[in-house]
Amino acid sequence: MYLKLIKIDFIFNLMKKKTLLLFFIFSVCVSYAQKEKFKGQGPINIVATDSKPVQKQWKGEFKFSDNDVTFSNEFEGARLNGITQNNDSTYTALITSENTPINISPWYTFKVWSKKKQTINLILTYQELIKHRYYPKLSTDGIGWVALDSMRYTAYNTGNTKTFGNSALPLKVKLRLDIGPDTLWVAGQELQNSTLVNSWIDSLTQKKYVTKSTIGKSTEGRDLNMLSLGNTDSKNRIMIISRQHPPEVTGYLAMKAFVETIASDSKLAKKFRNKFATYVVPLMNPDGVDNGFWRHNAGGIDLNRDWANFNQPETRAVKDFMEGLVAKNKGKFYFGIDFHSTWDDIYYTVDPKLKGNMPNLVPNWLSKVKENIEGYDPNISPNDKLVPTTVSRNYFFIEHGAEALVFEVGDNTPRDFLKEKAVIGANELMKLMLENIKNK
Ligand SMILES: [Zn+2]
Repeated sequence: MYLKLIKIDFIFNLMKKKTLLLFFIFSVCVSYAQKEKFKGQGPINIVATDSKPVQKQWKGEFKFSDNDVTFSNEFEGARLNGITQNNDSTYTALITSENTPINISPWYTFKVWSKKKQTINLILTYQELIKHRYYPKLSTDGIGWVALDSMRYTAYNTGNTKTFGNSALPLKVKLRLDIGPDTLWVAGQELQNSTLVNSWIDSLTQKKYVTKSTIGKSTEGRDLNMLSLGNTDSKNRIMIISRQHPPEVTGYLAMKAFVETIASDSKLAKKFRNKFATYVVPLMNPDGVDNGFWRHNAGGIDLNRDWANFNQPETRAVKDFMEGLVAKNKGKFYFGIDFHSTWDDIYYTVDPKLKGNMPNLVPNWLSKVKENIEGYDPNISPNDKLVPTTVSRNYFFIEHGAEALVFEVGDNTPRDFLKEKAVIGANELMKLMLENIKNK
């Protein structure tokens, strides 16, 4: 374009150049202002799901006697593989995964304290080819978390042009931390280990229409707990699962708000519980979560690739439960949802041309969610290649006819907004399902 302009007379040329320049500046501003839309993941690769070895971290306290600084990974969910002291006030941590190949979700959590109050620099580094993903959060009790002040966060080797994925990430980061005799917790996302998840489960069972059961055990012997809500004699059912992937805490938080809405005292929720039984497995991968794994279970496998072969106890437990219930009491699962986290909010749905037990439920539901949140445009990615079933959504749809989707929440989605989306989502889903069942 520019070359062509040179041929035209000089003044006109200058004017054009100015216009072009302004247009260029304008486009750059617009492209920066408008967030690039997340396109979602590519096709899912089918992989073997027979158990593989995993490398557990050494557990204990890393003590530096010069300054009386101690780091610890001695708690459920921790991940800290090694730490060295660079100088008086700077330390470098190494975070590695349970095995490879692995998704880029480098989870870290540890505690740090010192006898004297002091300020330290802490550099987070990862194994080869892996970069820093989760923005650091701090806690004084392991329960309440706040994001690290951005003035105390330095990212190295950024210079990336992409918004999502590995090439959008810094190679390593430096955190500036005030430490002292009181324990400071540092984590990639809010810690939600099996003890915390189970105490949430127990708190819900205070309601007389919520019960807890165990549908199986993980490889390391942890209970796979399930919540049942509402009329369990009903032949109309929905299935909710979460946390196949340990660091995906934002998906877990959305699932919590979603389930609490179905368990609430509202008229709608009561009506829904009367007509439908809701089954929830909030923590699909307790071994992975408590070991601080990045992705896999204790069998070294991505559970969300095992819904065709069922080689792992966690996926098998859900399959046996769902198929056992249908064999015994007949009836149907009308809806299945699996909560995850990724780079940005996205819904992986089943192509609407494929009809399950309640055709068009999911597209209608997502348009209701859109209507009810001002300015919100859900990012929806439908899929029609569901065999082999491989992932939970495909299994729910193909084996049970359940209208199914993966509900993905961004790593950095504001916690208030993910909760709002989940509450509105649960209410709109209950309304639609009640209407649909009336017409059956
Ligand atoms: Zn996931």
